[in-house]
Amino acid sequence: MAGHGTHGVLYVVATPIGNLDDLSGRACMVLREVDTVLAEDTRRTRTLFDRYAISTPTRAFHEHNEREQTPWVLARLLEGKRFALVSDAGTPLVNDPGYVLVREARSHDVPVHCVPGPSAVTAALSISGLPTDRFTFEGFLPARRPRRVRAIERLAGETRTMVFYEAPHRIVEALADLRAVFGDDREAVIARELTKRFESVFAGRLDHLLTQARDGRVPARGEIVVVVRGGVPAPVDDDATDAVLRAMLDEEIPVGQAAAVAARLTGRPRNALYRRALELAGDSRA
Ligand code: SAM
Repeated sequence: MAGHGTHGVLYVVATPIGNLDDLSGRACMVLREVDTVLAEDTRRTRTLFDRYAISTPTRAFHEHNEREQTPWVLARLLEGKRFALVSDAGTPLVNDPGYVLVREARSHDVPVHCVPGPSAVTAALSISGLPTDRFTFEGFLPARRPRRVRAIERLAGETRTMVFYEAPHRIVEALADLRAVFGDDREAVIARELTKRFESVFAGRLDHLLTQARDGRVPARGEIVVVVRGGVPAPVDDDATDAVLRAMLDEEIPVGQAAAVAARLTGRPRNALYRRALELAGDSRA
C-alpha cells in the first residue's frame, strides 16, 4: 500500500449503499491492511467486516466527535499509522463525516487516497434516464417548510439535473414544494432502496409522482434519492444581448472577445453571438 516518507496514510473508502457484494476488491484489501478503520457507526461496519472476514480494529468517527477525534488521528498519521475512513454507506464526506479530517491531513501533507465506489448520488443519476452531462447535488433539503421552499426557489432557474437526498417521512411535502416551484410537468425520478431487496424507481412528471406518493404507491419508507430534470434555459431578450455586445464593441473590444464575454453573461451560444457581433460591428461602421 502507498505511504510517503515517515507519514502514514489516510484512505477514504467507499462502502456499499445496500448490497454488501458491492464492496470493491481494493476496498476490502485496504480495510484489511490499515492499522485502524474510522467508522461512522462501528456496529454497522462490523456487519460489513463479518461478511468479508475483516478483523481490523475500528474507532468511532462521526459528526458528533469528528472535531475532537481529528487531532488524535492526525497525530497518529504523522507518526506513520495507516487509517481508513468509512461511513455507514456509500462514499464518506458525501453528506457524511470526514471533511475536517481530510482537510487537516492534506494541510499536514499526509497522503490521502480515495478508494472509490458506490454513492447514492451517482447510483440514482445513472439509472434516472434524465440528462447526466451536467448535474448539481443538493444534499438534503431543509426539513422545515419555509426554508425548504426558499432553498427550492433558489434553484428555480437551474438548468442542470438536480439530485436531492430526502428522508422518507418528508417525501410528500418535499415533492409538493418541488412541484410548486418547478411546475406540474417537470420530469423527476424517485429512486428508493437502491441495490437492496425492495429497490424501486418511480419516474414521471412531478404532479404524477406527488399523487403516487400521497396515495402510498411510493412507500414513505426506506432510503430515497429524488432526481429532478433541470429547466429549459430562459430565452435571452435580444435587445438585452445586443446592448451587451454594443457596449463592448463601443469600448473597442474585439468581436471574438465580446462574443465570448456575452456568451458567459447570457448563456447563449458563442458562435451565434459572434455572428451577431459582426453584424453590429458592421452597422456601427456604416
Ligand atoms: N455517503 C452516502 C452516499 O455516498 O450516498 C450518503 C449518506 S446520507 C447520510 C444518506 C442518504 O443517502 C439517505 O437518506 C438517502 O437519501 C441516500 N441513500 C443512501 N443509500 C441509499 C440507497 N440504497 N437508496 C437510495 N438512497 C440512498
